[in-house]
Amino acid sequence: MRINRAVRVGIGAVAVALAATVTAACGGGDEKSALDNAKDGNLTIGIKFDQPGLGQRNTDGTYSGFDVDVATYVAEKLGVKPENITFKEAPSGQRETLIENGQVDYIVATYSITDNRKEKVDFAGPYYIAGQDLLVRADNTDITGPESLSGKKVCSVKGSTPAQNMKDKYPQAQLQTYDTYSLCVDALRSGAMDAVTTDNVILAGYAAQAPGVFKLVNKPFTTEKYGIGLKKGDTELRTKVNDAIEAMIADGSWKAAQEKNFAGTGIAVPAPPTVDRY
Ligand code: GLU
Repeated sequence: MRINRAVRVGIGAVAVALAATVTAACGGGDEKSALDNAKDGNLTIGIKFDQPGLGQRNTDGTYSGFDVDVATYVAEKLGVKPENITFKEAPSGQRETLIENGQVDYIVATYSITDNRKEKVDFAGPYYIAGQDLLVRADNTDITGPESLSGKKVCSVKGSTPAQNMKDKYPQAQLQTYDTYSLCVDALRSGAMDAVTTDNVILAGYAAQAPGVFKLVNKPFTTEKYGIGLKKGDTELRTKVNDAIEAMIADGSWKAAQEKNFAGTGIAVPAPPTVDRY
């Protein structure tokens, strides 16, 4: 088919415009690397917004929690001041996509390092080790561990390792997956769910917020190594973030951040993990 020049130019322009629209529609991720953004003095970091003690957006618009403190410490080591950080909500099921699309520079959001996830993203760390556990109402006596969940309504979150683990190992439980753990906790409170399952440190944060309402079963049954998720293949960034985690552990800030954020949860400061320089 012969196309005259004017038509060809027209098609080219449409293609360019279309490509631009598609890029924008994919979430406005920028093409710059995290380290380039840090050099420019700002970073966008993915955290949880609804996990007390870990990543929480407060009513006054500030952010708090251990993950927020880790994220902020790492940013400062990359040369970015706290006031130049933009925190973005990173729900469990969206984390890989947020990183792959460049919508965040890195994620600090109770994010377990797994081989599956490593096919799409890289991880610095681990900076903390948690374990999957169960939260029930305070008056519950029959849920004592994952083996006692037969026929029980158990809530977890889409795209999380605890939800996957329930499907694989405890199919006798009636698993329901929501978008966030706070929605699961609301359902536990109302009686719509019998238990919530995720990492002990997350569940302990919810329990501490509502004294006498919930109780942690407190028998962790997995190992969840929390990593800082970043773009796959960005070795320079991973090395710098690993250096920052080691510095945070060495100078006492890591321990202090847990003492501050986990106060009243019953979660003690563990021995620090060894960063994996894979
Ligand atoms: N650490 C687990 C995970 O990465 C559960 C916590 C969460 O969903 O953020 O899936």
